Amino acid sequence: MATSNGNCFICGKTAGKTAIKNHVSKEHNSGDEPCYLIKAEGAYDKDMWLFFTVALDASMSAVDNFLRQIWCECCGHMSAFRVGGREFGKARKIETLQGGDSLMYEYDFGSTTEIVISVVGEISRPKQKEKVQLLARNAPPQELCERCGASATVINAWENERLCDKCAEEIEDDAALLPLVNSPRCGECAYDGEQDIWTFDPSKPFPQPQKEKVRR
Ligand SMILES: [Zn+2]
Ligand SMILES: [Zn+2]
Ligand SMILES: [Zn+2]
Repeated sequence: MATSNGNCFICGKTAGKTAIKNHVSKEHNSGDEPCYLIKAEGAYDKDMWLFFTVALDASMSAVDNFLRQIWCECCGHMSAFRVGGREFGKARKIETLQGGDSLMYEYDFGSTTEIVISVVGEISRPKQKEKVQLLARNAPPQELCERCGASATVINAWENERLCDKCAEEIEDDAALLPLVNSPRCGECAYDGEQDIWTFDPSKPFPQPQKEKVRR
């Protein structure tokens, strides 16, 4: 996979990961609410990345909820943050971290998804109700069917094989098939991205609406 571009959800800019980090730090750093700018990326797939702000008075559980919703939640598995192997409790306030700190987030202790969380630094934003606000994420990867080269839509999780709709019909046990989704948890357990409400849409107004909630 080529290094992934992504989009700013505030103004629509398209750029690579580092350029987007510099962009949001500079262009979207104003308002009354003090926050941390956080980067999250797949521990094994750095082309999966997010930048988001978290209010300094928020607890780590707000970050846990956000990561579950955008990237992880399938069957209500357990999760944890760790710093240097030690658990960092979800009741801890994010302001007890410092710029430059890095944590590991683990979702599901069976077929685990590991996510690296980095505190980029302080940033401010207009006051808002949600503790976490998505600023930018990688564009969905464009993958090809490993059998015919058409655009892939599903993954055969048992074989780790990307397939198009047509070739997927040839798989006898369709319990193995999961949708190809924009998450480092793609293809794990029963993950299908159902709760991810943050799909970048250049035709919608900016900042992109983030309020629509998914019914559980
Ligand atoms: Zn922007
Ligand atoms: Zn699951
Ligand atoms: Zn195919």
